[in-house]
Parts: sequence; structure tokens; C-alpha cells
Amino acid sequence: MVEKRNLIRQMKEYAEEHNVPIMLDDGIDFLTTFILKKHVCHVLEIGTAIGYSAIMMALVDPNVKITSIERDNERYLEAIKNVKAFGLEDRITLIYNDAFNVKLDGQFDLIFIDAAKAQNIKFFEMFERNLVSSGSIITDNLNFHGLVQKNEEEIKSRNVRALVRKIKNYIDYLKNNSQYHTEFFDIGDGISVSTKK
Ligand code: SAM
Repeated sequence: MVEKRNLIRQMKEYAEEHNVPIMLDDGIDFLTTFILKKHVCHVLEIGTAIGYSAIMMALVDPNVKITSIERDNERYLEAIKNVKAFGLEDRITLIYNDAFNVKLDGQFDLIFIDAAKAQNIKFFEMFERNLVSSGSIITDNLNFHGLVQKNEEEIKSRNVRALVRKIKNYIDYLKNNSQYHTEFFDIGDGISVSTKK
């Protein structure tokens, strides 16, 4: 138990030191509570980074299995190291590739989208075929550090403005997607839960 806590702390420190964006604590609490409440067993994660959220999800329950995709080699290798340190190799499958090159046959109760924020619609549409009926798709960072709530003129960088516009488009896309019921939560950096109707 103490060892696990130390390993978690070390992962967070690594993320901080190497500027790896990982999910905030209350986002992780939300995700893990969702997994427990809904009896989620199979999770597909887009955006492993160093394996932090995958490991936190797997620690919730021994029945939880995760498949997670990462395109950055250094982060993928760090994730492999972390998954091994927790002895979770049999329950966490890591795929090193761009998610857009990955075709999966499996079905998942939960798809967690936490990768390139401008590509959320594409990820959603590419992987929804891997979602079980009545499964859910969770997306993180819909507030994008509070910038989504700001007026565009207040955002100085053109690139950031473009990204914020894409996140807003994704929010509209979710609201207008009649095949899913989407709830938005002002938790962590803003989370949506889209459940198949
Ligand atoms: N889920 C992780 C956590 O909370 O511990 C954090 C993931 S981080 C916010 C996003 C990651 O997605 C980055 O490591 C990035 O390299 C990866 N990524 C972005 N676009 C991707 C893509 N098209 N395919 C695979 N990975 C991608």
C-alpha cells in the first residue's frame, strides 16, 4: 500500500518535471468512481502519456482491463516501466502508435478520450464502433484551463484561439449528437460523459 502510494507520487513528480500533462486529482476521482459505479470492465484510453490514468483506473478493481494508445515513444516507454512497477502488465495493454492508425476489434464499456484536443470529434467517430451498446465515452479538458469560458478576444495566441474554437465545436457536436446523451461536469479540467441511448 505504502509502496503503491510512493509509486503514484513518483509518477506525478515525473509528469511535473517533464511537462507531461496528466489528469488532475478530482478528474481521476471522477473517472475511478464512474468505473466503480457502472461496473466498467473494459476501458479503451486514447492518450496514455506515462500511464498514470490507466494505472489509476486499473487499481480501482481487479476486473478492470485497459487498452491504451500513445504515439510519443518516450512517454510510451515510461508508461511500460510504470505499468511493470505496479505489476499490471496482464491488465493494461499499451499500444505505441498514432491512434488514427489503430484499428481495434474489441468492444469496450468505456472509451476515455484524452489525446490531441483538436481531434476529439475524429477520435469519437473513429472509436465509437468499439463501444458496447449503452457504453460511455468520457472526454477530458473541455474547459481547457478555463479558456473555453473566455471571450475569444481575451486569448492572445492565435493557435490557442483555434484550439479553443475546436473544443467548443466538440462540445456543440456532443450536444447535438442524438445517438448519445451527454452530461458535462465542471470537474478537473472539464469532463463530458456521453452515453449511448
Ligand atoms: N491520460 C493521461 C493521464 O491522465 O495520465 C494523459 C494523456 S495526455 C493529456 C495526452 C497524450 O495523448 C499525450 O501523451 C500525447 O502524446 C497523446 N496523443 C495525442 N494525440 C495522439 C494520437 N493521435 N494518438 C496517440 N496518442 C496521442
